[in-house]
Amino acid sequence: MSPFERISPMAPSRRTCLALGLAAAASPWLPPSAQAKVLRYTLEPVPIAPGVWTIYGVNEPITSRNGGAIANITVLDTADGTVLVDAGPSHRYGEALKAAAEMLTGKPVVRVYLTHYHTDHVLGATAFDSGVVAAGKDLTEDLKRFGNELTTGMYHVAGDWMRGTGIPEPGRIVADGVESVGARRFRTIRLSGHTREDLCLFEESSGLLFPGDLVFLDRAATTPDAKLPTWRESLAKLSEIDHRLMVPGHGPVEAGLRGIDQTRRWLDTVEGRIGDGFEQGLDITEMMAMPLPDWTQSIAVARYEYARSVMHLMPALDGERLPVQGA
Ligand SMILES: [Zn+2]
Repeated sequence: MSPFERISPMAPSRRTCLALGLAAAASPWLPPSAQAKVLRYTLEPVPIAPGVWTIYGVNEPITSRNGGAIANITVLDTADGTVLVDAGPSHRYGEALKAAAEMLTGKPVVRVYLTHYHTDHVLGATAFDSGVVAAGKDLTEDLKRFGNELTTGMYHVAGDWMRGTGIPEPGRIVADGVESVGARRFRTIRLSGHTREDLCLFEESSGLLFPGDLVFLDRAATTPDAKLPTWRESLAKLSEIDHRLMVPGHGPVEAGLRGIDQTRRWLDTVEGRIGDGFEQGLDITEMMAMPLPDWTQSIAVARYEYARSVMHLMPALDGERLPVQGA
């Protein structure tokens, strides 16, 4: 998700308090019950292949209840140390992840790949030495440019879970190619469409494909930074990779192409609904109320994400379809 749309003028001062660790003692914004409680993430790694575990995110929007732990995070054991795919939503999550991963493998974390700049995937990286945090060039630049807005938005939405969370500074730039850690070989593929840069990983020894948030399964895709034609091109490229299991950014790990097909179908549905609404002259509220097809009833947060997508995608469609006055 993108927190930009939730930023309020009050957010920076609250964020500053939380970053300084003052919230529990003196914050006027938190109810007494929240001030007294020490928040802890409960991480439950699920084995998906020999020496590989996925910690599933919950199929919900980011809230002050779930602390932003909505994305899938994966731990891979290698002879040379532990590798992570994504780092979770906060410094506190990153610390819990580091402890859980090193307990599973008995080895230190030597590489943390960040797939894209959405907060639920990257902000936990501050719990790791920047030398082990690896990201593509565009993501690294975007964290420098927009990191403050990202963290501010998350402090506003998730509150005290975010205490101590700063902006990750990846120390390793990932290009297209292959990176070896122990006997594992990570093919690194920089695509885009969900965001400006979506780093996908294919681990050749296990056949595991990590498409980041280019693939959502049984959970509606988010579109705050989406370019739909590019996203579809990326899905076509991913479908050509002969993988054994796919680990989507959100949703269950499965063999086959169901995640790719469903994500494409969701994007087509959202775009189709908005296009139809536009042709009918509906305003944005009416468009948000349009019924969704029956197949989406089994998709988590479909109605919520559809409404957000109307807000994200309507302005571009307006610009494309409305006649230009005076031209
Ligand atoms: Zn995302």
